Amino acid sequence: MTLHIPLESTYADLPERFYTRLEPSTVAEPRLMLLNETLAGELGLDAEALASDDGVALLAGNTVPEGARPLAQVYAGHQFGGFNPQLGDGRALLLGEIVDRAGQRRDIQLKGSGPTPYSRMGDGRAWVGPVIREYIVSEAMAALGIPTTRALAAVSTGQNVMRETVLPGAVLTRVASSHIRVGTFQFFAARQDIEALRALADHARARHYPEAEGALGLLNGVVRAQARLVADWMGVGFVHGVMNTDNTSISGETIDFGPCAFLDTYVPNKVFSSIDQHSRYAYNKQPEILAWNLAQLATCLLPLIEEEGGSLEDAQAAMDAYPPAFQSEWARVFRRKLGLLGEEEADVDLAGRLLTLMAKGGSDMTLTFRALGEGDAADHVSDRDAYGAWETEWRERLARHGGAEGAEGRLLAANPALIPRNHRIEEAIQAAVAGDTAPARRLAAALGRPFDPPSGTRDLRRPPQEGEVVTTTFCG
Ligand code: AMP
Ligand code: MG
Ligand code: MG
Repeated sequence: MTLHIPLESTYADLPERFYTRLEPSTVAEPRLMLLNETLAGELGLDAEALASDDGVALLAGNTVPEGARPLAQVYAGHQFGGFNPQLGDGRALLLGEIVDRAGQRRDIQLKGSGPTPYSRMGDGRAWVGPVIREYIVSEAMAALGIPTTRALAAVSTGQNVMRETVLPGAVLTRVASSHIRVGTFQFFAARQDIEALRALADHARARHYPEAEGALGLLNGVVRAQARLVADWMGVGFVHGVMNTDNTSISGETIDFGPCAFLDTYVPNKVFSSIDQHSRYAYNKQPEILAWNLAQLATCLLPLIEEEGGSLEDAQAAMDAYPPAFQSEWARVFRRKLGLLGEEEADVDLAGRLLTLMAKGGSDMTLTFRALGEGDAADHVSDRDAYGAWETEWRERLARHGGAEGAEGRLLAANPALIPRNHRIEEAIQAAVAGDTAPARRLAAALGRPFDPPSGTRDLRRPPQEGEVVTTTFCG
């Protein structure tokens, strides 16, 4: 059993003002709660070795891999619309990068690893709840086929952290194609540090958009990747909850799972986060918030675009491309959910009318779409007559472009039976706090197969019953 972690550090090769070099703080008594053996395999790591005492010490930050240059990344960001010029990894450390078995470079980050120069008023720690939530939800997202950061492991620390009450501490090992955010660009743009902006843009482009040309190409790439991402979220009823610019990744992955949640009942303006008092980040606001966040990135990149001979009009054109790009991604997602082949202009309206029926009738979003493939969607929509008329139209459309054949299979492959429902996550967290990680393991395992759930997991499909509904989620 050998634990060799071949870490590289291209980020550490960037100028020193991009980060602070720092070792993680040690913890009292680390214990493995969850380990992602499949992901370990993808990374070329030995899962058994990771689960050993030496491995758990690494996952807790008590030791660092040989040759690692851990660092806290600096960034800025608009939080709920207000600019904060100085944020950064306040409770996380980038250990380094691994080039995985598929040749992809991936960041390995510890989250909850102790205070950094960017902790501000925070303690640099995380508690078991948000760590379990991020592990389960990010892995569910990956299984749903949506770009996301991943979770390699969750360990408890044997130390308490103070929140409203005393809670058990934990560390998450997060894997991302990078942790570069819109806010990372904002940090240097706010300081008019063009040299740093250039280095960051080149680094991000090489890593995520190697085909793109210049800063404008980078901007276009991020616009497309993020439009695709948020459309994917809309298709599964995901509410990120804190779409601040520092939580918008350049790679186009879902990042920073805080007070996030999936819709049970389809309520378009739904908000879960306790701190989102003005519903800025409601489910149906996410596409326009993304436009706003992308405009912040465009502003940061403008000096580079101009340096390359481009103009404000070019940056504006990149922004103007976003609404149609999002529309077409949304259409892609919902055509798939309806099993449609080919493209007809009226498809968007067809999908929209089903959603309207679902909203009026308080339908469960996941169960209703799943039922299209299982043949009993009428049971999920309260206005049966209206649904019947819609279904007739849908079936006619479905049959066009050769779509009648194999429709059921396409529908079941596009519409998950399982999503990480809030009440199940809460249940798993409460058990883990009490020392029992079995419910979290069971939930994570089932969510690994959302379109084809393992047997014995029917209970996990069920929406919350009256006393089980989770209305509010917290940051942690
Ligand atoms: P978030 O809303 O989780 O994306 O975090 C916003 C900022 O607050 C980031 O700079 C985090 O690193 C920082 N932060 C959040 N929680 C803590 C904590 N417990 N200790 C230190 N910094 C934190
Ligand atoms: Mg430095
Ligand atoms: Mg964040």
